[in-house]
Amino acid sequence: MTATTGEPSFRQSVDLMFTRAAALMDLPPGLEEKIRVCNSTYTVRFGVKLRGEVHTFTGYRSVHSEHTEPVKGGIRYAPSVNQDEVEALAALMTYKCALVEAPFGGSKGGLCIDPRHWDADELEKITRRFAYELIKRDLIDPAQNVPAPDMGTGEREMAIIADQYARMNTTDINARACVTGKPIHAGGIQGRVEATGRGVQYALQEFFRHPEDVKKAGLSGTLDGKRVIVQGLGNVGYHAALYLSTQDGCKITHVIERDGAVENQAGLDIVALRDWITRHGGVKDCPYGTYHAEGARVLEADCDILIPAAMEGVINTHNAGAIQAPLIIEAANGPVTAGADDILRHKGTVIIPDLYANAGGVTVSYFEWVKNLSHIRFGRMQRRQEEARHQLIVDELERISRDSSINWTLSPNFKERYLRGADELELVRSGLDDTMRAAYQSMREVWWGHDKVTDLRTAGFLVSIERVAKSYQAKGI
Ligand code: NAD
Repeated sequence: MTATTGEPSFRQSVDLMFTRAAALMDLPPGLEEKIRVCNSTYTVRFGVKLRGEVHTFTGYRSVHSEHTEPVKGGIRYAPSVNQDEVEALAALMTYKCALVEAPFGGSKGGLCIDPRHWDADELEKITRRFAYELIKRDLIDPAQNVPAPDMGTGEREMAIIADQYARMNTTDINARACVTGKPIHAGGIQGRVEATGRGVQYALQEFFRHPEDVKKAGLSGTLDGKRVIVQGLGNVGYHAALYLSTQDGCKITHVIERDGAVENQAGLDIVALRDWITRHGGVKDCPYGTYHAEGARVLEADCDILIPAAMEGVINTHNAGAIQAPLIIEAANGPVTAGADDILRHKGTVIIPDLYANAGGVTVSYFEWVKNLSHIRFGRMQRRQEEARHQLIVDELERISRDSSINWTLSPNFKERYLRGADELELVRSGLDDTMRAAYQSMREVWWGHDKVTDLRTAGFLVSIERVAKSYQAKGI
């Protein structure tokens, strides 16, 4: 229990959810415990000379499960980072990777730092030193442990980590695969920045393809016109809100940020709002809607879909009873505590759980890792050949039309779309969409098919635990 909230810690919360699912399984004695526990957590304290004095930083890299290697998981920069949190996040990575069939064990890292307190050069020095400490212990390595961005980190930090690894491993031809989420020029992949938010969109699209699932949440119809609250307009929240509002017809009625919330029942312009936040540091005084100083209270507002996309523990036993949203999709990791999960389940709220909902990031990271190991961009070999074959069909159809005087033509729009071979971004989106659909199907089968499973989270854990268990058993453990 944490003294401040009276609730289980984040790691305990994940363990409780795991245990609830494992209790429905028939695992060999001891295997449940082996899967649940975190294998190791490395703590490092290192000094960096900045602004004329030495500052000491504390960082972690936790490995939850090595049933498949490399292990995978983001690096978070936040002042609140601690061992309990990285272990909880590492455990979630194990279950997430298993659910979306990404061939990785679970890991996570974090540095106790507020990145907003340091400029770009200072952050580079700190990141290089942190990376050095992890690389020399093989806690960053293309074959063993591959980080990615998380809260407070992005492409820039990943590029620095990749460069630091390459400097320390000059003959490793696969050096670029030591980290994902890099910028394109440093070995990244198209579509990685948007991937987690895009995955949230694909997850909701898949959910709404099943009217009986939608009905369980007390909703009906499609995503079009649904009123959505988003908490956290960072990487994940921004892309989810952007695509849902511009491509699926959702109305983002509220955005909650650190300094409060902004409401506009007609739907917020997400690009303009993000631009405002970037320039002014928050939503206060923004001209796009009504400002609410108590952001957390806005989680309880009336809406169709609630998307917590900021951080863990925001929906807890104190506010779960007041949450009105009939459908919650956990874009963040661990936004609903185990206690709140119980309350919401009993209320009938449908929760699309984090281990599935935000798996878009690790899925595209997997594609990036494969791209780095194969040393070739996706689509490079087949794109023009695919276009040439499509051109053959179009030419032949047009010849038949001319020769038989059937007087029809292919519309220019169809021709343009059909003739264009898929580039890397299209292939990445297609692979991500396929992954999100397949993973939802596997959870859904358990949700509808197992008489003791009443929620998607337990269903997701069951699928994951079974896959991890099989992997351990195949090794003779
Ligand atoms: P980010 O740092 O880009 O964005 C976080 C956003 O939340 C920021 O806009 C921040 O101002 C806001 N925020 C922070 N505290 C808040 C609070 N108390 N109330 C309201 N807003 C608050 O981080 P991100 O990468 O978007 O990650 C967000 C969540 O998604 C985290 O839980 C992370 O673990 C999870 N996640 C991220 C990825 C990824 O690819 N980046 C992948 C999977 C899961």
